[in-house]
Amino acid sequence: MKCIFTIDVEDWYHILDLPGAPEMGQWDSLPSRVEQNFTKLLRILAERKAKATCFFIGWIAQKYPHLVREASRQGHEIASHGFRHELAYAMTPEEFLEDAVRSKKVIEEICGQAVWGYRASGFSLTENTPWFFDKLIEAGYRYDSSLFPAKRGHGGLANGRYAPYRPDSADFVEFPVSVQRVLGRPICFFGGGYLRLFPYSLIRTMTRRVLRQERPTVFYVHPREIDLDSPRLAMNLKRRFKSYVNIATTEPKIKKVLTDFEMVTFREYLVETMNYSAPKADSLLNLPAILSQEQGAFKI
Ligand SMILES: [Zn+2]
Repeated sequence: MKCIFTIDVEDWYHILDLPGAPEMGQWDSLPSRVEQNFTKLLRILAERKAKATCFFIGWIAQKYPHLVREASRQGHEIASHGFRHELAYAMTPEEFLEDAVRSKKVIEEICGQAVWGYRASGFSLTENTPWFFDKLIEAGYRYDSSLFPAKRGHGGLANGRYAPYRPDSADFVEFPVSVQRVLGRPICFFGGGYLRLFPYSLIRTMTRRVLRQERPTVFYVHPREIDLDSPRLAMNLKRRFKSYVNIATTEPKIKKVLTDFEMVTFREYLVETMNYSAPKADSLLNLPAILSQEQGAFKI
């Protein structure tokens, strides 16, 4: 069993559920750190010959298409993190579908490959989004990794599903972010604030435990988490702790994880482990019907 290393490709200001966080209309005017931080992550991966799945915000992909192309050229999987980085439960099903389709189309036109994977901002698949998988299937995705099966600040759905599973359709797979039960409670050790907070020895032990249960260990990081000079948004003490605690330890931990464990992309895992074969016409010509109906509705 192997691990899956994922990057949510976004900038320092893409922090959710925070009053005062910049709106999409302001993003263009802010200083950007994503190019240098993501490029550094690519270098760390290349030095260890590891492949990652990169979930790009569509807006970021559109603004920095060379990052998408470079990651693709280096053999990483390109996937979608939505276009506007909005919480799924804050959108109507129709808005969610439009955003999921739009990001898929933008990213596919840049990298020239069909995008299979989706991750919602803030793991915002919850009991309030019962339409979530239906809409992703309608948008033409083949898998999702938005389920955080434990309690967290926002998002999260403690539904007891820890291993990859097919929620609705034989052709669609959900990859929960990995958790490990400790004293009966599912706890994540493998991304964001959890990766920053826990010591590496514990993360390694928990990674091995997940693998022994025949589950891939799914890690997630953000480019800003290796940036000690990142600008910081104003927030209360609790959020500041969650957003920035132990940030200096992230890069060394990422390097250790990539050295100690073998990584595959979600796409490789689907094909190699779940006998998932690409449909015959898996090309840009196979975009979902909604696109042909609304071609031209999205400015690229
Ligand atoms: Zn995000």
